[in-house]
Amino acid sequence: MKFAVQVDDLRKVYRLKGETVHALRGVSFDVPEGDYVAIMGTSGSGKSTLLNLLGCLDRPSQGKILLGGYDTGSLSDDELSQMRAARVGIIFQAYNLIQQLTVLENIEVPLYYRGKVTPEDRRRCKELALMVGLKGRLDHRPMQLSGGQQQRVAVARSLINNPDYILADEPTGNLDSRTTEEILALFERLNNEGRTIIIVTHEDDVSEHARRVMRMSDGEIASDYQIENRRSALATAAS
Ligand code: ADP
Ligand code: MG
Repeated sequence: MKFAVQVDDLRKVYRLKGETVHALRGVSFDVPEGDYVAIMGTSGSGKSTLLNLLGCLDRPSQGKILLGGYDTGSLSDDELSQMRAARVGIIFQAYNLIQQLTVLENIEVPLYYRGKVTPEDRRRCKELALMVGLKGRLDHRPMQLSGGQQQRVAVARSLINNPDYILADEPTGNLDSRTTEEILALFERLNNEGRTIIIVTHEDDVSEHARRVMRMSDGEIASDYQIENRRSALATAAS
């Protein structure tokens, strides 16, 4: 079996004004390629800390992270950034789009880490924008789009480097229930095509669509189980 992510005894300690916070207290798990994991847990349980580490946005205090079999611990900061750009697609609750750029230009942004943007890249940006349902919006700026449309841009942007897996931190936290279903239908389609998805959420409506639920509590994994009868957002969208 091939693994998108392997994590062993991951610990993260924050020190802030003389105070020490143990945000992760020894977390171990594997995510096989093609899995769809929902990470749940109360506020402050360490979900975002874990996601930031899996996204190479931060380094652990202790423990091992393997991405696609590569040990990230031995990488320099530059190499870690390159690993992120090449292997990980990241989606945030607040979309994090650049306001001055159009839809197409926002989708291009991760390519800048790699150097020059080619005409072939531009063609793929457009293809992705259409795939996520942004027809007729390619030259709009984020302010001219609804929240759901902005999150579609973020999904397309996360895919432009053809990542090994997608990380999403509360991606539907700002969306109404209908738009949430539409974004989840998009994730489901990507997962059906073989993409690995790891999504942080506190909504049962969202986690029910995953193949597997990991619950965190106080910096540890409290439970980790497969979902037997997961809900299909594609089925809902079609009806
Ligand atoms: P969650 O996403 O589950 O709400 P977080 O991972 O954001 O939890 O936070 C876990 C714990 O670590 C919390 O107690 C939080 O206050 C603390 N924490 C998170 N980020 C930082 C930071 N940059 N500096 C200090 N403490 C932090
Ligand atoms: Mg969080």
